[in-house]
Amino acid sequence: MEIKTRFAPSPTGYLHVGGARTALFSWLYARHCGGKFVLRIEDTDRERSTQPAIDAIIESMKWLNLSWDEGPYYQTKRFDRYREVIAQLLKEGKAYKCYCSKERLEQVRADQMKQGLKPRYDGHCRDDHSEHSPDEPYVIRFKNPQTGTVAFDDMVKGHIEFQNSELDDFIIQRTDGTPTYNFCVVVDDWDMGITHVIRGDDHVNNTPRQINLYKALGAPVPVFCHLAMILGDDGAKLSKRHGAVSVMQYREDGYLPEALVNYLVRLGWSHGDQEIFSREEMIRDFTLDAITKSASGFNTKKLDWLNAHYMKTLPPEEVGAELLWHLKRQGLSEEAVKAGPAPEAVVKAYCERTHTLKEMAQKARCYYADFDSYDEKAVKKWIKEGSVSVLEQAGSVLKALPEWNAQAIDKALEDLAAKLEIGMGKVGQPLRVAVTGAAVSPGIGDTMVLCGRERTLARIARACEAFSK
Ligand code: GLU
Repeated sequence: MEIKTRFAPSPTGYLHVGGARTALFSWLYARHCGGKFVLRIEDTDRERSTQPAIDAIIESMKWLNLSWDEGPYYQTKRFDRYREVIAQLLKEGKAYKCYCSKERLEQVRADQMKQGLKPRYDGHCRDDHSEHSPDEPYVIRFKNPQTGTVAFDDMVKGHIEFQNSELDDFIIQRTDGTPTYNFCVVVDDWDMGITHVIRGDDHVNNTPRQINLYKALGAPVPVFCHLAMILGDDGAKLSKRHGAVSVMQYREDGYLPEALVNYLVRLGWSHGDQEIFSREEMIRDFTLDAITKSASGFNTKKLDWLNAHYMKTLPPEEVGAELLWHLKRQGLSEEAVKAGPAPEAVVKAYCERTHTLKEMAQKARCYYADFDSYDEKAVKKWIKEGSVSVLEQAGSVLKALPEWNAQAIDKALEDLAAKLEIGMGKVGQPLRVAVTGAAVSPGIGDTMVLCGRERTLARIARACEAFSK
């Protein structure tokens, strides 16, 4: 049997880390089994679903590199199919029209509460065959079995059993004719051949209703795997209050997708005490029985640590491709980026010196575009009497250099410092300020190579002018 999993987000907002973890686990399980992964957009709630949310989900999935084999399917494009299944259920007497008014339902509810009962539909229209005028509004309810139990063996939570008497006849079609979530999800998972439903445990209580529906349809019941939720570092349910929660916000903050994916895989899954996993290792080792039952806590420090790891260890070209996105976000044009150093060269020079790609792009901006002002503290500390003369002499030495590489530059400047009988700091630091606007950068030779010869010389000249005043 081919294993098939799906990720089925409701596009009511951005993709948050909880959703991304669900997507990752579903994707990993499909890849581990050599099966298929489906992306399905559950957009039947037309009021709350938006196109920007759909776009954000797809963009996030692409950025995380969670590729799907089928879809995206849209539930709003499947209404004919839902209508067909509902008609069938009505015909077979497995569903019925319910004409109960809002007032009646509220009354039933109030009475049940008064008696200390769990509020639920009382089945009033289940066997009501009285005539109704065609324009009288109704919903369609599923005839849930009234006796017995419904049970399933959740891959994470173990055996779960509900009494059918606790479940009521849930609505499968609203008064406006639109189908409901619990209904569509079953028809979709059936039609799409989903074998394993991996989702958040906020859906555990929907599962018995859905199983009864599968059975009424004569459809195979998939395996269920409900993931415990993610908590913030303070133990409360993860929310905006804990900082970034949307996947794209992590991108904007300068995290690598590999770092976030590696971080997410360990949120509720383990393989010995291993922390760092390549994609191949994750796919190879991921199994559902190693998912933890308890909620997992989000730990930003660990994510930072993983990000630093991947910035240093992934191929610089790969990190550079992501840096490019950040450079453009710094307001740099396509031409400016093309005319500057290759992003991978920046990665090599800065991966040990910065914590995020956002920071790296901010620091590297000076290699692609001129800066407007010098860092005041750096100027105060390093630009002294005589600095302009040092800068001028360094400018001449550098202009005359036969080749433009870090070694040659470093050597020429060391020779100049020796000739002037001053420490290298008194040469290198004013030059750093002149070239980058600040006093911190990689080795001076590397810095100048990144900046390029022409730009370096122009900046030295510009600094001489600025600092002579
Ligand atoms: N659309 C549901 C949600 O976003 C998920 C449904 C499911 O996975 O079964 O919560």
